[in-house]
Amino acid sequence: MDLLVTGGTLLTMRGDQLGIVDDGAVGVTDGRITYVGDAVEAPDPSDADEVVDAEGGVVMPGLVNAHAHTSHTLLRGGAQDVPEIEWMNRALGPLSAHADEADRIAGARLGVMETVRGGATTVCEYADEVGTLVEEVYQPLGVDVVAVETINEVPDDRSDLGPRELYPFDREQGEEALSRADELFEAFSDDPLVTPAYGPQALDMVSPDLLETVQRHAKERDAKLHLHTAQGEREAIQIEERYGADESTVSVLDDLGIVDETLVAVHCHGATPSERERLANDGASMLGCPSSIAAIDGIVPPVAEFSDYGAAVGVGTDQAPGPGHHSMFREARTAATLSKVKHTDGTALTAWGALRMATVGGARALGIDDEVGTLEEGTRGDLIVVETDRLSTAPAVNSPMHTAVPNLIYSTTGREVRDSFVAGEALLRDGEFVDADPEAVVAEATERARALYDRASENWREAGSELVDAVDAGWL
Ligand SMILES: [Zn+2]
Repeated sequence: MDLLVTGGTLLTMRGDQLGIVDDGAVGVTDGRITYVGDAVEAPDPSDADEVVDAEGGVVMPGLVNAHAHTSHTLLRGGAQDVPEIEWMNRALGPLSAHADEADRIAGARLGVMETVRGGATTVCEYADEVGTLVEEVYQPLGVDVVAVETINEVPDDRSDLGPRELYPFDREQGEEALSRADELFEAFSDDPLVTPAYGPQALDMVSPDLLETVQRHAKERDAKLHLHTAQGEREAIQIEERYGADESTVSVLDDLGIVDETLVAVHCHGATPSERERLANDGASMLGCPSSIAAIDGIVPPVAEFSDYGAAVGVGTDQAPGPGHHSMFREARTAATLSKVKHTDGTALTAWGALRMATVGGARALGIDDEVGTLEEGTRGDLIVVETDRLSTAPAVNSPMHTAVPNLIYSTTGREVRDSFVAGEALLRDGEFVDADPEAVVAEATERARALYDRASENWREAGSELVDAVDAGWL
C-alpha cells in the first residue's frame, strides 16, 4: 500500500447520502483506493509507504470544480459591478482580447493553484486551445482535468456591435476549434488524469449545423458536450434575432436533437421552469456557477431545481472576473445560501446536498463518477483532509449529529484544507504545495496582468462600459 490516511471522520459519498464513517481509514495502492472503512480493520500502517494521521479532521473526496475558465484569473477584479449586457462585450472582452498565450497560462496557473489550495482535485477547464493549459498547468501540477475545447464562430472583440446586431459567424474558426477538440483525444490518450470533452460555447455563438456536427463527434468518442445554455439576456436577444421571436435556446436545441444524456447544460438560468424540467427529464446534466451568475447577472442559478428533477448537478467557479474566486467550499456555500434565499426556504439546498454537488454530483455531471467524486474501492485516490479543529470549524461533534457536515459548508474559509492527494500523490501537505511555488506564480501573474492592462487600456476605455465612469468618478 502506498498511502494510508487514518483517524478522521470519513465522508465517502457512497450511495445516496454522505457515507459517514467515524474514525475511518482510506488506503491507496498504485493510484487507486484499495481500502475504505473503519480504522481498526484497516491494513497495518507498517505496510504503507506513507501514513497520514487525519485525527481531528474530515477525509473526503477531492472537490470537483465542475466548470471553470481559469485563464481569466489574470483579469480578476477587471470586470466586476457592470450590467450583464456590458460584462462580456464591453468590460471583459476588451481586456481578454489583449491576452497572449503566456498570459493565459499564467492566469490558469494562478486559478488552478487557488482552487487546489481550497480543496479541488478535479477541474473542468473550458478554454480555447485547452490542450496548452493541460500541458503547461495541469500535467505539471498533477491535477485531474476535464479538458473542454471552446468551439465558437464569433470574433473575440464584439464591443462595436449593438446589442440587437447579430454576431457574425466565421465557419472556418469553428471548424478549426472542432479539430483541436478532436485532437485532444489522441494527444492525451495515455494520461488517465485528462478527460477531453467538446465545448460549443453557446447557441448564439455557433451555427446549428456545426453544433450537430460537434454532437456527432462527441457521441463517436463517448464524450460530453458542454454547452453554456440559456445564459441570459445577451444570448436570448441573439436567439430571437436569429431564429425568431417565438424561439428560445431550449426550443432550438430541442428541434436540433441536442438535448440528451450527452449534453452538459451550463447555467440554464434563462430557461423557463418547464424547459429546465425537460432538460433534466431528457437526461441532460447541469452545472451551476452560483457566485458567478449572482455577481454578473444578479440571478440565482437553478441548481436546487435541477437536483429536485433528478439531474446530475455540479457546481463550478466559472472565471475569476465576476465571482472573484476559485474556492469550491465557498462556491458550495454560495449555492446553498442563495438557493435558500431564492426559494425563501432554509432547506432548499442543505449542507449535505451542497457537499454532494461539490463532489459526486459534479463527477456524475461530467461523466467521470467511476473515477472521482467518491471514496470507494477501485476509484482514483483523489482525497482531501480538512481540519475541523480550527477556530473557523470547531467544535466537531460526532453525536448525536456530525456538526462537521454543516461546518464544512457554512464556516470553512478553504484554508482548513490541510492535505490533498490525486491518485495517491500529494499536492498539498500541511497546507503547503508539495511541488509548486505559489509566490512565484503570484509574482508572474501580477507582472503579466499589469502589462496586459497597459496594452488594453485604450480599447477598454473606448468600449465605454460603466466601469470607465466609475474610474473617472474615483471609485475604481
Ligand atoms: Zn463558462
